[in-house]
Amino acid sequence: MLLYNSLTRQKDTFKTAEPGKVKMYTCGPTVYHYAHIGNLRTYIMEDVLEKYLTYSGNEVLRIMNITDVGHLTSDGDTGDDKMLKGAKREHKTVMEIAEYYTNAFFEDCRKLNIKKPECVQPATGCIDDFIRVILSLLEKGYAYEAGGNVYFDTSKLEHYYRFHDFREEDLEVGVREGVESDENKRSKADFVLWFTKSKFDDQELKWDSPWGVGYPGWHIECSCISMKYAGETLDLHCGGIDNVFPHHTNEIAQSEAYLGHEWCPQWFHVLHLNTNSGKMSKSKGEFLTVSLLEEKGYSPMAYRFFCLQSHYRKSLVFTWENLDNAQAAYNKLLARIAPLTQTADTASEEETANLLKAYTEAMDNDLNTAQAVTVLYDILKADASAASKLAAIADIDKTLSLNLIENAKALTQNDTAQDIPEEVLALVEERRNARKEKDFARADAIRDQITALGWTIRETRQGTEITKI
Ligand code: AMP
Ligand code: ZN
Repeated sequence: MLLYNSLTRQKDTFKTAEPGKVKMYTCGPTVYHYAHIGNLRTYIMEDVLEKYLTYSGNEVLRIMNITDVGHLTSDGDTGDDKMLKGAKREHKTVMEIAEYYTNAFFEDCRKLNIKKPECVQPATGCIDDFIRVILSLLEKGYAYEAGGNVYFDTSKLEHYYRFHDFREEDLEVGVREGVESDENKRSKADFVLWFTKSKFDDQELKWDSPWGVGYPGWHIECSCISMKYAGETLDLHCGGIDNVFPHHTNEIAQSEAYLGHEWCPQWFHVLHLNTNSGKMSKSKGEFLTVSLLEEKGYSPMAYRFFCLQSHYRKSLVFTWENLDNAQAAYNKLLARIAPLTQTADTASEEETANLLKAYTEAMDNDLNTAQAVTVLYDILKADASAASKLAAIADIDKTLSLNLIENAKALTQNDTAQDIPEEVLALVEERRNARKEKDFARADAIRDQITALGWTIRETRQGTEITKI
């Protein structure tokens, strides 16, 4: 399989240290708020990658951290503590916030068919590991204490900027408008491993350490959690594109300084989901969540389908119109698969394998899910038996996880379309247009008209379900 590698800046053949075994690390969420659908784009694509590696015959160990301490609003160790901000906002403790939003995150994942990784580790459960690694970095001369904090000394590395060739003067890590720079750092690029002195005197979560009572920096979490479960090397490290710098750059710096050898040869980064007005952000307050999509009548599967229709290395623009199109395309796809589910025949292995060739070609070429979706339509058009087509689609859906067969079957079971009067169907269509134009008052009025005619409508994963009262 060819996979784009952010380290080499080219598509590399994906290799593992031990044949058939993949050790995969994915940076997890900072649990101070709900995940927005941009975050979830990254997790959907990582899920597809994990499942495709499994489909290709690998045993995948996937590790994910939960950031419940240390992540400040600027990734460069300044700004406010995100967890503390969340706790203050909701008048709860940091741990209550962490538990609530961790559960909410996995609930969103469940709705989107994102498999929960084998290893999920909250950072607050690994404080001793962080302290051990920081002590070793100090001993080896890669870290220093200043102003009560412990910093990683990036000047000790020959090659700190591993993903890009930044110029030092272009990098103003932590020096943004309204955010003061950290005078303790010997160099702007240095980063915090352990805080004891910060402006957060009311920091709730603090632990004893050789440097005084304090808490870990964000970057050290991922290095230590990875090593705890995967040992001294990883095969694959994943995250959203914003993680490249400083987070992943710092992870490599501290891991390799600690280990004394290369840590992870392959880095997979998912480009962002943006809105028309720019980057999606949890910190801005108003953001798009899976629950909001559901409230508006969209199925989580339509959002997954929307993501899969684009390549992970292209940024993706979210608009309601784009999601409408994805929902409509998903519903149509189900409608075309539905008749195949009625077959009682057995699939031909050879025919199924032939149908799957274009699919594996697409996925082996840098996880081209957009092409894989096209292959689904090609299979529907192909000259092959219904049973073989169905078997091929079921196989593809082990990775795409769009509930294609299950939802297509459900369509055939509640197919009462013939009995619904034209007038009701026309009103349903009119209501759909009203919703598209966000005229929700009108949509509600049409719903009342439909009820008056003796019918109810309900938004389901497959679209609008119309039933007689
Ligand atoms: P966070 O919860 O902020 O730590 O982010 C969780 C994951 O979502 C990280 O891997 C980020 O790189 C990723 N991410 C953040 N914003 C976006 C976005 N707009 N689109 C896609 N991924 C994102
Ligand atoms: Zn990380």
